[in-house]
Amino acid sequence: MKAFDSTQLYFNRAADLMDLSENIRRLLLTPKREIQVQVAIERDNGEIATLLGYRVQHDDSRGPMKGGLRYHPDVDLDEVRSLAALMTWKTSVVNIPYGGAKGGISVDPASLSPRELELITRKFVDGIHDLIGPDIDIPAPDMGTNDKVMAWFMNQYAKYHGFNPACVTGKPVELHGLPGREEATGRGVGILTFKLLSRMGRKPIDTRIAIQGFGNVGSHASKFLDEAEYKILAVSDVSGAYYRKEGLDIPAMLRYANEHNGALAGYTEAERISNEQLLELDVDLLIPAALGGVLTKENADRIKAQIIIEAANAPTNFDADDILHERGVTILPDILANAGGVTGSYFEWVQNRQRYQWGLSRVRQELDHVLSEAFERVWQLSAERKVSLRTAAYILGIGRVGRATVLGGIT
Ligand code: NAD
Repeated sequence: MKAFDSTQLYFNRAADLMDLSENIRRLLLTPKREIQVQVAIERDNGEIATLLGYRVQHDDSRGPMKGGLRYHPDVDLDEVRSLAALMTWKTSVVNIPYGGAKGGISVDPASLSPRELELITRKFVDGIHDLIGPDIDIPAPDMGTNDKVMAWFMNQYAKYHGFNPACVTGKPVELHGLPGREEATGRGVGILTFKLLSRMGRKPIDTRIAIQGFGNVGSHASKFLDEAEYKILAVSDVSGAYYRKEGLDIPAMLRYANEHNGALAGYTEAERISNEQLLELDVDLLIPAALGGVLTKENADRIKAQIIIEAANAPTNFDADDILHERGVTILPDILANAGGVTGSYFEWVQNRQRYQWGLSRVRQELDHVLSEAFERVWQLSAERKVSLRTAAYILGIGRVGRATVLGGIT
């Protein structure tokens, strides 16, 4: 099953309950614009590398389009299209004045030198700069990209359009970035985990957690949850998974990753298991925070966690979602669970435009406020309509986008 299929099926499941006509569905699902550009560079060894860069701008009925920029070998138009639509529903669920977009380059960033990484970023901006901007479409970091990439992005954009730091978010704090943006997605996952588990009557200390991915999202979520006294039994990255029945020493693992370029490879204070085994561990809560499509119809029956928080985008295939739902597993969907990132980006964009900087405590306070409001709306809607949290989130997100589209006028 392809990523886009799942997003579309989730959309249709909610649209059926909302009695949306075929014409409205088509209008809401069809991306506004799809861009594919050539990204050609001369590599350090003198060879020419020709890559493909994508940007899909899905919907702008509620405001400028917003979404990450991913550097990963699996990036293709289908994946980007699906993630762009997810962004539309996500910005709508948390009620920030944006639409949805996504972009990426099909490349393994680990195979590139810093110079090559900078070059592909600048060439990508060369290809799309006329079609993005602070009032049009604002990229941000995603898998394989970071604040440095965003700084190059801003700098290259300025060469065409002049200084305008609001053209991209997730920038370094020293360069018009937001204190707290880097942690915002993981922190948001932590805030929402706390809210959901409180509603379900679970105490942190009795909750055993496994987290797939220890990058930006996974590491900050681990930190927040560890500090809140949850028991994290396993975490993983691309090198495999690290497990300790009594609970991992998360501060030590964060230090280790920090000293090893963000990676856990070589960490010896835990049992080594595979990423697949991590997903099937006997834990209470599973947090996929790496790739999409990791929960499938093949492994859904073997997932033991009764609660799943989708920190990654699109980690659960539609058919797996059905199986897990039937088994009574509670899933906090990606369009709410990882919305802390885009909310932090929104705060950064607001500050760039106001030329006024908030401090970290205000950022954290506002993040808590936006996510808590969204969680309460989704939780209530799920109870009222007797639907899963995912379907409730889609009903909320699609409803707002649909109303804005009709109010703005279609012709
Ligand atoms: P990242 O690049 O910082 O980290 C990715 C992590 O996944 C790393 O630990 C990496 O080693 C691991 N990984 C890569 N391939 C793997 C594999 N095959 N098996 C297991 N682990 C693997 O990325 P990130 O920003 O943390 O993003 C993670 C997920 O969260 C993505 O799905 C992304 O779309 C989503 N997300 C990120 C943000 C954000 O602000 N960064 C916001 C919303 C959603």
